[in-house]
Amino acid sequence: MVTADSARSSINLAGFLDISTVNGPGRRAVLWVQGCPLSCRDCFNSDLREFVPRISMTVGMVSEKILGIPGIEGVTFSGGEPFCQAKPLSALGRLVREEGLNIVTFTGFPYHYIRKKDKPSWNSLLEVTDLLVAGPFIPRLRCSLPMVSSSNQQLVHLSGRLAGREGECPDAGAITEFSISRGGEVTATGYRAGLLAGLNRTGLPGEEGF
Ligand code: SF4
Repeated sequence: MVTADSARSSINLAGFLDISTVNGPGRRAVLWVQGCPLSCRDCFNSDLREFVPRISMTVGMVSEKILGIPGIEGVTFSGGEPFCQAKPLSALGRLVREEGLNIVTFTGFPYHYIRKKDKPSWNSLLEVTDLLVAGPFIPRLRCSLPMVSSSNQQLVHLSGRLAGREGECPDAGAITEFSISRGGEVTATGYRAGLLAGLNRTGLPGEEGF
């Protein structure tokens, strides 16, 4: 159950995209959080690593935004590092899952590390995640597999709900998806998006975008 306090807790967002088809199976919203303690070489989201305030939104507001998007089957949490904001993200995950959506979470932490830590907030985020994409990006292990950028990264089907569907996603290293908002803002997502200059890769909507 999500308490009123949890619904009022804040998420420090770096970006949001209403609909993507390259960040998990099917059509899904994508939420990027700000801040990551890891330092993968060739990090493709380097502007999201610093722990600085970006767009602060309550869990309730973000869930309302997500549940108002027609035709999506789920939400992807990316970053930055979602496990650094595990508490509000797990509350958000619970709210949208109650309405039938599924959750994909990308993390730079290996799965065994997350399990070993056994932190209550991390366990809560695992509980609402259907498919976890876990592990740091290692450039020398770059690969052409669905949903992962380097072969050390693991796909962990935590609920089984998305089992067998990773193949619906294009090779994460090869695809860049461009979205153009009604206001003309261009968002590029996918690994190579980080290499493209002059685009607002994370689709920062500004608070009015919510
Ligand atoms: S986990 Fe992701 S955001 Fe963090 S340093 Fe690695 S590639 Fe960059």
